[in-house]
Amino acid sequence: MPLAATSLRDVPWTVSWSGEQAFRLQPSADFAGLVELDQKQAPGVGEPQFAAMHVRRQRRGMIDLVCHVCGTPTPPRDRYVFPAASGGLVTLHDGSQQYGLNVPPMHRACAVRAANACPHLMKVDEPPLRCGRDDGRLIHRTDVTPGLEAIARELPPGVEVVFSCYRLYGPEFTAKVLAARAAWERAVAERRRR
Ligand SMILES: [Zn+2]
Repeated sequence: MPLAATSLRDVPWTVSWSGEQAFRLQPSADFAGLVELDQKQAPGVGEPQFAAMHVRRQRRGMIDLVCHVCGTPTPPRDRYVFPAASGGLVTLHDGSQQYGLNVPPMHRACAVRAANACPHLMKVDEPPLRCGRDDGRLIHRTDVTPGLEAIARELPPGVEVVFSCYRLYGPEFTAKVLAARAAWERAVAERRRR
């Protein structure tokens, strides 16, 4: 049976496509003095690979706070994340924990659309959380992004390569995330009891 053609409209902006599987190294314009992995840009070509984020679009989304779903900038008043479905707590040297997130933010309308279309978000089933004044600290990652191990093996040895980046949020937004996660856990427990 032929697969239904997937249109660009139905696929989040950051998702990688099978027609984009070409990579190269280039000097990073965002992280001075470092080399980054760049990926061919041809969204809509081939099949979407929902489990993988396009390396260049992931970084642009995080750096420029561009919407994960539609690929246009998110203004501070319309910038949302899914705190239980994405991100995680990072333990710092002093033992404190801060919320780190590698999925670009979303407009509220885009978050609602994603919540009704993405199997992972539908399973978690949580309301989107509005970002606060804290834009987080942008941090680059030079460890290999899961799924890119084969690409990493072909890179020249001894070169530190920027694969992705994330934002690490301060105590105020971290507390909001923890409260949202606790509320979500209570709602899940409530649903199970019924
Ligand atoms: Zn959007």
